[in-house]
Amino acid sequence: MLPPAYRDLPYIMTRPIQATIDLAAIRQNYLLAKRLAPNSFAFAVIKADAYGHGYLRVAQALAPVADGYGLINIENALAMREAGITQPILLLEGCFDREEVDVAVANGLWVPVHSAFQLDWLRALPAAGRPLDVFIKINTGMNRLGFRPEQAADVLARLRQLPQVKVRGLMTHFATADDDEGIEPQLLRFDAVNARLDLPCCVANSAATLRYDVARREYVRPGIMLYGASPFADQSAEQLGLAPTMKLEAEIIGVQELQPGDRVGYGARFTASQPMRIGVVACGYADGYPRIARAGTPCVVDGVRTRLVGRVSMDMLTIDLDPVPQAGVGSKVTLWGGDGLSIDEVAAGADTIGYELMCALAARVPVVVVGE
Ligand SMILES: *Cc1c(COP(=O)(O)O)cnc(C)c1O
Repeated sequence: MLPPAYRDLPYIMTRPIQATIDLAAIRQNYLLAKRLAPNSFAFAVIKADAYGHGYLRVAQALAPVADGYGLINIENALAMREAGITQPILLLEGCFDREEVDVAVANGLWVPVHSAFQLDWLRALPAAGRPLDVFIKINTGMNRLGFRPEQAADVLARLRQLPQVKVRGLMTHFATADDDEGIEPQLLRFDAVNARLDLPCCVANSAATLRYDVARREYVRPGIMLYGASPFADQSAEQLGLAPTMKLEAEIIGVQELQPGDRVGYGARFTASQPMRIGVVACGYADGYPRIARAGTPCVVDGVRTRLVGRVSMDMLTIDLDPVPQAGVGSKVTLWGGDGLSIDEVAAGADTIGYELMCALAARVPVVVVGE
């Protein structure tokens, strides 16, 4: 009963766990960002291996529609160039050393400049040849990367003296686009700077792209929305019109009939209060399922919602089979991303966000790609 994608493998994997990556859904989610921001150039953010989905396959799936890409590791950008991807690629954190600047120039990568040491590297570039496309990154309150607002005019003046550099625009990153505080204080600071510089702007992550018309400027940088998860605590991916892109499924590999007082798993954290059936599922924290997930975190068996009980172990987790009396060894368990169970709901059970779960999908989980 192996899925077709396994037939080409040099060995057979039979541990019953599988992730399904839906490239058509990723394309559809990107096109939703484009519909929301029809006049913006949208960098598809594919950092962190496309949030666990495989950056190269995602880059290729988006190639017919993507304006450009955003990522962090320059070696990923080079692999994309080798694969024939020609769109602009923005290195979201800029260059980490002087050599990377040369590589960026040679491969037409776009780089933010967030600190004075990076300006020195640009000054050292040869004046002749292809200019390097840069954004000036301003810190408007996030306090990670970026020049202070009052430095921006001086940075622009310095860059304009360099024929080897082409200034594409001004960027910043929001700390609270996904919550009640919103983007206004940071956007006001940003716009006060740009009132004098008059550069094209790049400010919106997914949350700002989805929620704030005023943030949809010349460029946007959607990430999480491409992967069908919601950046918001108060609005689901489904409500936002986003399609799930990563399904994690496993099978039940054992069943236990518990009597009242029987306990389950490491730390004996769950005690049965009545006779009940427990399903043992072939998925654990070494597959990327969060160990910290609370009892009660939802999963779906044979289309029926049930819940995690006991502690997640390295290779297994345990679930309550009472709502699904017909389930047994071999029954399919959806852990997230299918059967109406969003990755965000599971993340909430582990006090985290969908981002972290998808990024943590382990290399040992076989991946089946659909929607190519
Ligand atoms: C990760 C990242 C994004 C995308 O953020 P999402 O919340 O995933 O949409 C945008 N811009 C920068 C600079 C980033 O690092």
